[in-house]
Amino acid sequence: MNSDQNTVEELEQKAKNKAEQYNFNKLQKRIRRNTGQAIADFNMIEDGDRIMVCLSGGKDSFTMLDILMSLQKSAPVNFELVAVNLDQKQPGFPDHILPAYLESLGIEYKIVEEDTYSIVQDKIPEGKTTCSLCSRLRRGILYRTANEIGATKIALGHHRDDILETLFLNMFHGGKMKAMPPKLVSDNGEHVVIRPLAYCREKDIIKFSALRDYPIIPCNLCGSQPNLQRQNIKQMLNEWDKRFPGRIETMFKAVQNVVPSHLADYNLFDFKSINRDSGVINGGDIGFDKETLPESSVPSEDAIEFDPSLQLDVTNI
Ligand code: SF4
Repeated sequence: MNSDQNTVEELEQKAKNKAEQYNFNKLQKRIRRNTGQAIADFNMIEDGDRIMVCLSGGKDSFTMLDILMSLQKSAPVNFELVAVNLDQKQPGFPDHILPAYLESLGIEYKIVEEDTYSIVQDKIPEGKTTCSLCSRLRRGILYRTANEIGATKIALGHHRDDILETLFLNMFHGGKMKAMPPKLVSDNGEHVVIRPLAYCREKDIIKFSALRDYPIIPCNLCGSQPNLQRQNIKQMLNEWDKRFPGRIETMFKAVQNVVPSHLADYNLFDFKSINRDSGVINGGDIGFDKETLPESSVPSEDAIEFDPSLQLDVTNI
């Protein structure tokens, strides 16, 4: 009896393991495919590149390193990866975790120790947000490190949802249609920064990271509060994703499909020169009527308006 029960339990466990493995493989394949696609679309990695992979200890950067290492094995070009972590001397930072993890991977790495925590505490009055000075200091140190290790590119772990959140943050609070580019030149003009996870969904990264069981280091060690505006936008987008499946994908598609002649930025498009000889520009416009779009890509405004919880979120942003 007992041995029969064990057999059934064992079989169930085997089936469960198989299902988990199947889901993991599917997830890994999707993240790899999306990352590979972004790398190709933006020509992020070239032969001979030495890429500094910024590893914060969060789920995104662990995933980025993991996927880049896996792509490196099959990529048609040769490139090097150097993982870099900045130990900002925040109280309670477990400084043994990343070196042990990186040793186990056998990858080249560098831990940079700089007490930016004390500088920030010293300079910013209590109760004020510390993040902007902290990030500025971090950025400077990472640029310097990239020079020191001879990196040709700096890779950051931002994903598709970070890009969309930034777009809404800029629209709601900055009066700009500006997101986060997958590839750019750093603000000091010296480095090419890439975001290989630009096409990856955060929910995939969350699941993947949990299955990979990375030694995550909490991001609130500095004691700073999370950015409330970004949190609210994240909540709004998650709510939309639940209620209108596909909307997030459509919005990201929109970021890649911009029509300057149909916006209103006269610095971006030469509206002043338009005359009757210009011809139809980008499909023209109906002129007098609003364009009708398919329901699946643009859900009704009424649906948003009548959800009290969503109204509250939007008001709070
Ligand atoms: S949350 Fe803390 S560590 Fe992160 S940027 Fe803000 S102050 Fe710096």
